Amino acid sequence: MNKKELEQLNKIKEELVKTHKKCSGTGYSIKDKKSIKCECMKIFSYIIDLVKSNIPIDYWNLSLNKLEINEKHKTKVEKYIHKIDNAIQKGIGMYFFSNTRGVGKTSLACEIAKEAIRKRYVVYYNLLQVIISDKFTDNQEIIEKIKDADLVVIDEIDKVAMKKESNLSFQIENFLREILPSGKPVIMCSNMNLNEVEEKIEIQSLINRYCIITEVKGEDFSKKKNNKLDDLLDEKLNYFSKELISSSQKHYENENKYYEKQYKENIEG
Ligand SMILES: [Zn+2]
Repeated sequence: MNKKELEQLNKIKEELVKTHKKCSGTGYSIKDKKSIKCECMKIFSYIIDLVKSNIPIDYWNLSLNKLEINEKHKTKVEKYIHKIDNAIQKGIGMYFFSNTRGVGKTSLACEIAKEAIRKRYVVYYNLLQVIISDKFTDNQEIIEKIKDADLVVIDEIDKVAMKKESNLSFQIENFLREILPSGKPVIMCSNMNLNEVEEKIEIQSLINRYCIITEVKGEDFSKKKNNKLDDLLDEKLNYFSKELISSSQKHYENENKYYEKQYKENIEG
């Protein structure tokens, strides 16, 4: 975990755990002489994984039900989420695309990511541009995180950035050629349909092979969101929202799964 993530988590812990009356800010309570994790601590543990996965904070409190997105798309994502263990085992991802911005591609992708987190998989989210520029740094922190992840979300695969036969396009094409067949599912959000992909970076066949392709149609909700920006400025994240409570409970119940996985990894090397 890097310094920025630690600072963010310390601040959240102050607000969420230290002020919680039920456990007097300790994060634990005593029941039948046993120390058990308080609700605030369960939520905090889940948030640690959200931060580690780099899921943007705006998506923490969303849920598939709440999204203002065509039901058809939701059903498709719901089906994927339902079978996420298989998807991760078989390395099958999703490719969301649309010509318009703000139709909810990132929201859908983050719903998948959060389900994987609740099931204790290692997840990593970032924008394609950020990932590619990390390749040119010394320690390649992001590339390392992608290597360690069970599921990767790549957002803003943008045709404007891709000039045919430019160095950037070449880097992007190479990166996607490496990661798509790597056995881990990749969830992608893009403004290119498959013909445009083929024109720019020639990986259409790989996407066809490793991703479920979904064109996301709908109105641009980012405009609507923009009207609410003023409200957002005042609004603090509600740590005890329905969504965070139920997600963290599920994450908590899967705690053993995580240790099982660690155990297996150590045994199998
Ligand atoms: Zn508490």
